[in-house]
Amino acid sequence: MCTIRRFTLAALALGISSFNAAAATPNAIPHDSAPLGKLPRWAQPLAYHLDFRVDPQQSAYTGSAAIDIELKQAADHLWLHGQDLTVSKVTLTDSAKKIHAAQYKAVAQKEGVSTVEFGKTLPPGRYRMTLEFSAPFNERLEGVYKVSSQGAPYVITQMEAISARYAFPGFDEPSFKTPFTLSLTVPENLVAVANTQQVSEQKLDNGWHKLSFAATKPLPTYLVAFAVGPWDVVDGPQIPATQWRAQPTPLRGIAPHGEGPRIKPALAQTPAIITALEDYFGFGYPFDKVDLLAAPDFAAGAMENPGLVTFRDYLMLLDANSPARNVRSSFNVAAHELAHQWFGDTVTMPWWDDLWLNEAFATWMQAKITQQLHPEYRADLELISGANYAMQSDSLVSVRKIRQPITGTGDIETAFDGITYEKGAAVLNMFERYLGADTFRQGVRAYIKQHQFANATADDLVAALSKASGKDQRFAKAMQSFLDQAGVPLVDTVLRWEDGKAVLHLKQQRYLPLGSTGNAKSVWGIPVCVRYSVAGGDPKTQCELLDQAQGMMLLPGATASSWYMPNADAAGYYRFDMARDDLARLTGNLAQLPDTEQLAYADAINAGFRRGDLDAAAVLAAAPALAQSGTREVATALMPTLKWLSKYEARNEAQRNRLTELARKMYLPRLQQLGYQRRANESQDDALLRASLAQFLALDVKLPEVRQALLLQGDKALEKSADGQLDLAAANPDLLRAVLSVATQEQGTPAIDVLIKALGTTSEPAQRMAILSGLGAATASANAERARNLALDPRVKVGEMNTVLLASREDGEGREAMWKWFTVNHEQLIKRSGDSSGGRLPDLVAGDSCSQSEADRLNAFFQPLLPQLPGADRGLAQTSEKTLLCTALREKQDPAAILR
Ligand SMILES: [Zn+2]
Repeated sequence: MCTIRRFTLAALALGISSFNAAAATPNAIPHDSAPLGKLPRWAQPLAYHLDFRVDPQQSAYTGSAAIDIELKQAADHLWLHGQDLTVSKVTLTDSAKKIHAAQYKAVAQKEGVSTVEFGKTLPPGRYRMTLEFSAPFNERLEGVYKVSSQGAPYVITQMEAISARYAFPGFDEPSFKTPFTLSLTVPENLVAVANTQQVSEQKLDNGWHKLSFAATKPLPTYLVAFAVGPWDVVDGPQIPATQWRAQPTPLRGIAPHGEGPRIKPALAQTPAIITALEDYFGFGYPFDKVDLLAAPDFAAGAMENPGLVTFRDYLMLLDANSPARNVRSSFNVAAHELAHQWFGDTVTMPWWDDLWLNEAFATWMQAKITQQLHPEYRADLELISGANYAMQSDSLVSVRKIRQPITGTGDIETAFDGITYEKGAAVLNMFERYLGADTFRQGVRAYIKQHQFANATADDLVAALSKASGKDQRFAKAMQSFLDQAGVPLVDTVLRWEDGKAVLHLKQQRYLPLGSTGNAKSVWGIPVCVRYSVAGGDPKTQCELLDQAQGMMLLPGATASSWYMPNADAAGYYRFDMARDDLARLTGNLAQLPDTEQLAYADAINAGFRRGDLDAAAVLAAAPALAQSGTREVATALMPTLKWLSKYEARNEAQRNRLTELARKMYLPRLQQLGYQRRANESQDDALLRASLAQFLALDVKLPEVRQALLLQGDKALEKSADGQLDLAAANPDLLRAVLSVATQEQGTPAIDVLIKALGTTSEPAQRMAILSGLGAATASANAERARNLALDPRVKVGEMNTVLLASREDGEGREAMWKWFTVNHEQLIKRSGDSSGGRLPDLVAGDSCSQSEADRLNAFFQPLLPQLPGADRGLAQTSEKTLLCTALREKQDPAAILR
């Protein structure tokens, strides 16, 4: 799944110790309690035949699930999953074709655990269990759900993580991989698609037809997918046969009615991605087709269902007027989901504690493929920015480990976070460098080959990498130290001259920011690589595995004036703190460093500030040199820290002016040079840089001249044409969000009125997101309240709710108003977005808080809600800790340093 960074899912710790308990005594009739975690192994599914009868015009659907099962021991019942299902009939047919009537009972409603009681003891053996059921279409984007696009209803599925239990009765756990054979009976004017190719069509009476699909390769329940509606089906270029795959593979786009042509750019880029992945894995794309589906409403960013990958519509529906940001994301997310066809779909983790095997790998692989096919996208820098972002969360005491034990369903939902994705990817990148790219690939290939169409754990991966590299336990322990231990290492470095040799002394501890209550004493196995200058030659690199609290490294050829970068190529997942003189020499040579290392340097400045080693003056002194970089990612790297300073640290006019003037000086000339309109043949990167600069200067720093320029575009965009429609295309699509935000802030009610009205008539997804961000940015209190109320309004889709709410708590006043609104409306908000989004709720409504009183009220309000909101305990702990760290930083950093 792609969650689109900074969009964390989450969800209740059950506090029930039986969560992982599952097995029963062999060869005895089990007398067990409902398994809230893993299911017992004595009843296993072997294959599913699922028949659904779906009409999107209705509010519910019916189905039958014929599940071939094996009872490994005599039993009078079995456990399975099913949530909000009405099961009308259950039978078990034994191998002698004798039919036994049975009964389905929901047991643990909240977790979706059910039982089938046989009414007698059945001997071990194979059975076909058939369940006839019906269910409502889900309204919270889980399981089988219904959405509408331009007035027409569509049905789509989203099973990950544990929503297949809403869709059909089954063994909803990733360790149970079996073939699925689907048929869909739908009104004959509608299109239906599933994971595999359609093999037959049968006309039925009364305007229905039944479409049958080929059996899938063995899959877990969370990868089953189908969709029904008046879809446009667009043939893409075939994916030609390769040395890894004997037959060409058909490729199609599935788009809402009338949107078909806009899915073509996404189709065009797909064959190259697939073949590049095949070359890496040495393993042909293993499924019988590729369909890319643009979903009119979706909870995450995209989902890697084999053969039927589903995406949020804005990632798939592109044209010349699409924001550059969406065009870039379309490629990145497609590369991520297609990488999952191997990592996750071909080889699957047996349990959610190894979710990182899916998500860290897909994130890392996405960067590798993007770097190969579009080097100008600078996926190498994206990976480092992702790591730096993850380090921020990894500094919290309440953070998850990459392999966090699962103690409740909430832990499953909250596992889709920056630690699993971005930290995981960075850790893979670090150990790839340590082993060498070729050796690492050899290990990955062996892992895929050995575990194809089955399950594998972190230990299996480490074993494959150890075997390929010939490395011993020291490597395995080093890798495990990052997987099974939370936190980001801080490596202290000081260069000394000893006996005429340059010796770099290293110490490691856990990085903890000001105000943290954590324990710094931790040891990782860190592959530390240092780049340093030598007299009259190219810089050299020296690497060492630091797996003790202290260590040292010789830097041969270094001279007294040598500078060194403690994280060569920024490939290591660690922060560094250099001796003052060493840092000064590095700063003096910043321009010589590659972009990757300049990003690591920017992170060191930010990390030093948050730890209290550097003050605001040091940040402001470092900023201009980075800002003048010709590389967008480097030039904008300190923007979040500058934003923090102006939002929380500046206390008086003089301090605010200093920050504004600095931002103007550093960034305005660049924006003016780029201009506010797109230029013919400009690079995608220029468009992205313009958007970042405009957003920062107009909305964070509030430079009047930039706001004025955007307002001019806003006036045009909000002008109604003869047909009464807004001309949103009159604004630069890359700037539309910022343009509409400035417009609602400057024009107030008239702008709010027309934008709310436009929501009812605009279906273009990028424009809708801009409208919602613009509405959320409203500053006048009555207007801001109207914007927030839209989150509960049917004109705003469920997947769009967060956009408007996040935008509406940007400033201090907004946070106060947002909090009041939430305390009044929380029941409706939770009802609409679903329990499984409970983990992200504390951040959604109180993220960016920065005072003790905000932390107190957050805790007081959420504590009683925790039992009903899976994952909210972790979300609450993290948001509350972030609030207290922000408070401590604000108290301990001296604002007067802004003027020094
Ligand atoms: Zn993913």
